[in-house]
Amino acid sequence: MQKTKNSKLPVLAIDLGGTKIAAALISPDNRVMAREHSPTLVAEGFQAVIGRVFAAIDRILSQANVDPAGLDSIAVAAAGAIDTNKGLITSSPNLPGWLCVPLRNMVKGWLDIPLRNMVKKRYGVDSCLLNDANAAALAEHRLGAGRGTNNLIYLTVSTGIGGGIIVNNELYSGTSGCAGEIGHMTIDASGPECSCGNRGCLEVLASGTAVANEAKRRIKEGERSRLTDIVPGDPEGITAEKVATAAREGDRLAMDVISRAAGYLGVGMVNLVNIFNPEMIIVGGGLSKMGELLLGPARQVVKQRAVPLCAGAVRIVTAGLGDDAGLLGAAIYARQF
Ligand SMILES: [Zn+2]
Repeated sequence: MQKTKNSKLPVLAIDLGGTKIAAALISPDNRVMAREHSPTLVAEGFQAVIGRVFAAIDRILSQANVDPAGLDSIAVAAAGAIDTNKGLITSSPNLPGWLCVPLRNMVKGWLDIPLRNMVKKRYGVDSCLLNDANAAALAEHRLGAGRGTNNLIYLTVSTGIGGGIIVNNELYSGTSGCAGEIGHMTIDASGPECSCGNRGCLEVLASGTAVANEAKRRIKEGERSRLTDIVPGDPEGITAEKVATAAREGDRLAMDVISRAAGYLGVGMVNLVNIFNPEMIIVGGGLSKMGELLLGPARQVVKQRAVPLCAGAVRIVTAGLGDDAGLLGAAIYARQF
């Protein structure tokens, strides 16, 4: 379903995350012409969040002095399981995304928010909705670390783990548009419980939350670590970032915790490498700032465990674009459909 028009108009892109709503006006040559951001405040519920998305769109239009008619489209990249075909943010007690925190107590069963049509109706322009990590995959493929590759997997490792799959230069969306839920790949069927209700998902073993929780657990059990100096008092203040700081300073517990998470990340990559035989795995998100501390052990696991022909073909690298990947990817997606 390629667009017939070859629009010279900008795309208004939104990156709707669990903590932040970023908005930008993106030119046809992928330059950011205007930008702004606001907090998501997810605990206030989806209606309030959607109100803030509309407010962000309004502010960008006013900042850039553009009417909705002067836009190619409005593209929303959102965290969570997205039905790209129907333009819905889907949510359920079995698949809690960012919206489920307040909704779980209010609604039993599936809840679909038709965000694409809500945007389209309000502004009268073409609109699209896709998963934020899928958007980042598109941006990294077109403009970032993956330029020139045909097949890649993008992984974002931060509070949770998301993913996007590029096959033959196109985003692989799957049947329902929700392909790439790499964070919920089962790594250890009897492992700890994940927010999705299953056990031993990659996300519960290798995300920033997992790193912080494992460090907290071991310190509460009485293990010694520099983390007790970095975060004096309550171990609950420990974050993945602080674990990384301690690891760089040579702290054994912190190094152990990160290499354990990196090992699980490597196991996830083994599965991806064996199934997709990609040229590249790109790791973005907050934890990618750990660089080799995270990627080194993961690469080692891939080398040891993946089918040699596949393992030999893949490069595992950090993302090339910063926080704008979701916005840029949303704009790229909008111009394709
Ligand atoms: Zn899960």
